[in-house]
Amino acid sequence: MIYLDEFDEWLLLLDGEPEFDMDAGHLSEQARGALRGIYETHGFVTGGDLRSLILTRRATYATQALEKVNADLPALTAWQIRPEVLLEKSASSFGYLNVLVHGHEVDGLDPVGILAEVAAYLQADYIDEFLQVWPVCSRHRTGLHPLENGDSAVWRCKAGNHDVAEIGCLRTTHR
Ligand SMILES: [Zn+2]
Repeated sequence: MIYLDEFDEWLLLLDGEPEFDMDAGHLSEQARGALRGIYETHGFVTGGDLRSLILTRRATYATQALEKVNADLPALTAWQIRPEVLLEKSASSFGYLNVLVHGHEVDGLDPVGILAEVAAYLQADYIDEFLQVWPVCSRHRTGLHPLENGDSAVWRCKAGNHDVAEIGCLRTTHR
């Protein structure tokens, strides 16, 4: 028999909750830490109360993430749509409210995961809108990938297997 502590029992319970839209069995360390933080402060919270705790965090971290990714985007970028953080009902979250960045639903719960997520959304939208790869590794001339790397989210060059910069510091870092 596998020993479960109360936190793990709570996670198992959440998997059956429609308001909980993450996969409790496949959480990143960072997302698990964020949930543990919620559990330690609020206990066995479920349903609508849990949903509002998740949404508050998503909105906060998505706003911070958007600021960082905007700092990385090329200057004088004329976006047709101004990226913003919105709270909207969505089909994929069973009609529950969710946080959207530039039309993309945020799935994460922690600052690092959401930063990598938002960077990927804006990168895809940038490529769609301007039909050019962004950002590019100046050394290997290939596109970078937003990834979680421990406590930070980075632009990774897979061709050279190196991190070019933390997301939000692309223009000030030269590695
Ligand atoms: Zn490179």
